[in-house]
Amino acid sequence: MRSRVFAAVLCCLVAGFFPASAQSPGAQPAPPPADDPVKTLVERLDLNKYKATVKGLTQFGDRRQGTDRNRAAIDWIEAQLKSYGCTPAERIKYEYNPAPSQTGGRGRGRGTTAQGGGRLRGVRGRTGVNNDPNAQPDLKLRELNMQPMTPGPREFVFCTKVGTGHPEEMYIAGAHMDGHGWGEAANDDGSGTALVMELARVFSGPDVRTDRTIRFALWNNEETGSQGARAYIAQRQALQGKEDPAGSGKYPEPKWLGMIQHDIMLFDHGMPREDGTMSKEQRPEADVNVEFQVNSKMAAESQKLAWIFLVANEKYASDYPASVGSHMTNTDSGPFQDIIPAISLRENERGTQIGSGWDPQWHQPTDVFTTYSDKDFRLGLNAAQTTLGAIGTLTGATITK
Ligand SMILES: [Zn+2]
Repeated sequence: MRSRVFAAVLCCLVAGFFPASAQSPGAQPAPPPADDPVKTLVERLDLNKYKATVKGLTQFGDRRQGTDRNRAAIDWIEAQLKSYGCTPAERIKYEYNPAPSQTGGRGRGRGTTAQGGGRLRGVRGRTGVNNDPNAQPDLKLRELNMQPMTPGPREFVFCTKVGTGHPEEMYIAGAHMDGHGWGEAANDDGSGTALVMELARVFSGPDVRTDRTIRFALWNNEETGSQGARAYIAQRQALQGKEDPAGSGKYPEPKWLGMIQHDIMLFDHGMPREDGTMSKEQRPEADVNVEFQVNSKMAAESQKLAWIFLVANEKYASDYPASVGSHMTNTDSGPFQDIIPAISLRENERGTQIGSGWDPQWHQPTDVFTTYSDKDFRLGLNAAQTTLGAIGTLTGATITK
């Protein structure tokens, strides 16, 4: 019963977006036709390129906001985006002056209720943010991460693929480039940042056209409460859809059609065991968790966007499925969730699973590149395939001959 209702709902939601698929309950999603341009674009994603971009980010250690290593990472990201042809790369500037008592860490909810809603079930492992430099055994990395943050000016970078038919409307694909915990923030959120950079690379190909605009945003200050995303909204919300200068056909801030955040994409080894250990391998049934927040003003629209991503995953992702959950939380999509359709993609559900200790590297010194195997990186690649498939379809991507 439940699956039939689900299939019927899914069918209605996606009809019109994916005319070739899910037309009747229980139907297999039709494989993309051989000449599907979105399929060609998805095939331009590559595991080794994705890994190299994650690796590139790890040279800046944990990239904690308000430090030289964070600023150097922004410069490096900007240079990469420009090298892909994703220009101009622009910056948002804002101030971050936290109260002295405020620290970055955010926990896992209270009692059996997870952050964002949902129930904590089963075996739970430890969570928290490492603040002890000596917990990092790699002396070089410890030294790299040593500079503390100072309050004051902050920046982050974004670049934009301008749509040819509807430049005045856009989707935002985001990830946060800051991290903490005295590791390399390889997974949280090097994995999401690299994913969005890889999307920028593919969509910026000289032969790629999209009907609508796509913005690739690498937020800062997510770990301290999404101050980067909040600054973007404060500075830009009122500018949406305005042509400037008048008659130029240019829209510095296209109307926001949706915000898709990518955060901690690699590690889905399942629930911790009773003895506190974890499976060493990616679990074969690993999935990409697409979440929306049911208690938000745009819940209906965000849910619809999430199901579109599920269909895109079935159509375009090579290995791992997606699942949809209703408790999106602690993410740069949060500040958008009452304004526009907003979802997040993660390795696990943030509240019930990561919040229960399913990722032992989370905000820890062990979140370094060498912790992860190709099976882990492949989950991140599948999330990239999912988002590229969904956004490519939603923006009418084509390839010019
Ligand atoms: Zn994160």
